[in-house]
Amino acid sequence: MKPADSDRAGAEKLARRVAEQGVTDERILAAIAAVPRRIFLAAAYQASAYADRALPIECGQTISPPSTTAMLVAALDLKPEHKLLEIGTGSGYQTVLLARLAAAVVTLERFRTLTDLAADRFALLKVPNVQAFHADGFDGYPRHAPYDRILLDGAVSRIPHPVLDQLADRGLLVAPVGTGPEQTLVRVVRDGRLFHRTELGPVRFTPLVEGLAARL
Ligand code: SAH
Repeated sequence: MKPADSDRAGAEKLARRVAEQGVTDERILAAIAAVPRRIFLAAAYQASAYADRALPIECGQTISPPSTTAMLVAALDLKPEHKLLEIGTGSGYQTVLLARLAAAVVTLERFRTLTDLAADRFALLKVPNVQAFHADGFDGYPRHAPYDRILLDGAVSRIPHPVLDQLADRGLLVAPVGTGPEQTLVRVVRDGRLFHRTELGPVRFTPLVEGLAARL
């Protein structure tokens, strides 16, 4: 299915809604206005594609509300020259937003079905600068390291060491950290062997799960 005029109108409306939620970064709002979110959803949920809502996706997972995605992306302070690692591809919607704001995106997902569906969507939208892998995000992806930016798209009790190791010097990582239903959004900046941590505020994410999914 190709993006239609109604997708353009929907995505522009969605960008205005996200702006009302306090997101001011024009590059992020322009990316939301340009990406047809409907394409990332199964037929049953496409009618709600341009509402600022979480929706179910394949493999029992969830696509975040766009305002949450925008808040995460804003916390990353992305520059056009950055190489970024995203852990938790899900539908691939956020990946495409990131790809519009950075030079290169490597994205990891523990469900093969989600990796394959997302890769189809990247091809359909002709996104040139994303590499999607079926891989356990707890190991990061050393082959393409170091990364200027790393984003964990699910909660962790602590940030895995291999992932921190793959952060470039002066690089920045954003992750929801905590074990309960509410976590703290944490930003880590690397300074050589030192990692400086700042807490950005409370968030609610589902946890990342260690290991590849055995099925799906
Ligand atoms: N932002 C995404 C939604 C991500 S939901 C979107 O726009 O659709 C979080 C995703 O992280 C889920 O798809 C889940 O399967 C994946 N995930 C959980 N643990 C993981 C791990 N260890 N490695 C890679 N992906 C993981």
